[in-house]
Amino acid sequence: MSTSEHSPRSGGASAHAVTEILAGQDDMKDWLHDLYRTFHRHPELSNQEVKTAERVATELKDLGYEVTEEIGTTGVVGVLANGDGPTVLMRADMDALPVKEDTGLDYASTDTATDADGNTVPVAHACGHDVHVASLLGAARLLAEAKDAWSGTFVALFQPAEEDATGAKEMVDDGLADLIPAPEVAFAQHVLAFPAGQVSPHAGPFLSSADSMRITVHGRGAHGSMPQLSVDPVVLASSIVLRLQTIVAREVAPDDFAVVTIGRISGGSKSNIIADRAVLELNVRTFDTAVSERVLAAIERIAIAEAQASDAPQEPEFELYDHYPLTENDEATTTRLTEAFTAHFGGQVTDRGRQSASEDFSDIPSALGVPYSYWGIGGVDPDTYAAAEKKGTVSADIPANHSPQFAPVLEPTLSTGTAAIVVAALAWFGGSGN
Ligand SMILES: [Zn+2]
Ligand SMILES: [Zn+2]
Repeated sequence: MSTSEHSPRSGGASAHAVTEILAGQDDMKDWLHDLYRTFHRHPELSNQEVKTAERVATELKDLGYEVTEEIGTTGVVGVLANGDGPTVLMRADMDALPVKEDTGLDYASTDTATDADGNTVPVAHACGHDVHVASLLGAARLLAEAKDAWSGTFVALFQPAEEDATGAKEMVDDGLADLIPAPEVAFAQHVLAFPAGQVSPHAGPFLSSADSMRITVHGRGAHGSMPQLSVDPVVLASSIVLRLQTIVAREVAPDDFAVVTIGRISGGSKSNIIADRAVLELNVRTFDTAVSERVLAAIERIAIAEAQASDAPQEPEFELYDHYPLTENDEATTTRLTEAFTAHFGGQVTDRGRQSASEDFSDIPSALGVPYSYWGIGGVDPDTYAAAEKKGTVSADIPANHSPQFAPVLEPTLSTGTAAIVVAALAWFGGSGN
């Protein structure tokens, strides 16, 4: 029998190791809170996470990690090799949003940045990625300071540009696979608007896939008084918008999930001119790649047919962009993870079901060919949440991600986010306390 054979699920030893590692949480609380406030106060837009990445790299180096920087644009990876055992990858996204913070916090952001179109915009961590960065640094520190309690390799990955769905792919395309030891499993987490202290794992599809599509339809321009000389693209686009509503209603099976939203329609310049083109921008979300393919094909079929019905001089043009892959948590991985969470967090583990939001994280484990699980952690003061729940006003009173008022409470959000990573990693590493 090989001596390198590892027993990552030696339950008692693992629980003992988790307790030993998390004992360091009290000592690092001030450091962790300071880090979090700094990230929160100085958010950076997608692919501009320069200062955040620098701070992350500095902290990781101080902790003894082997650090690679500028993967993709600003991606950072820290590797802590600590003897035999599995390699576990944990990812945190670093970017913020062009949102004007309205939380009233004394560490609220007042920063601005120049966006991709050259406009000066306010920036805020309205999606809570600062929680992810601070939590991962916290876990990285705990693991580095208790190396006797576990063995294996921990990979802390800090990703740019989640909000525009490009960051994970950028890191993969920049050779991520060659920069890190091959992981056995990959994890990520997101702070969400449910009670802090709670952890929400979910097996199977967890976050929807999302695709945006731009459709340009062509008509024939004419004077507004001479419609007989035109092919009116505004009427054509309008027909397409109405007919697209039948995809979810009539083509997708009732128990399959799909959303088709036409978020933008534009065409023409003046009331008495018939334009020669119109543009539709739409967004598709599903929990099943086959459903997504069927919906996208139906959209093209309908647009082409409506253009033909209008006698358009040219077929519509289709452009896909902002593709978010499906986040589908591996069953076996999630079962093992949930057992470990339950052993540590007890009744604070609540499966809150799948979410219609989207993420690009899975591009990383998919490219590396490893199973993954992505879970939610709460960020709302538990008493505030309970009061809103009692009044039936959760959706009105509890600001969700991307809201200018989104403000996770420091605790127990950060200690839970940090502990969840340690508990997850230890479910693979196992403890050495045997
Ligand atoms: Zn977001
Ligand atoms: Zn987010």
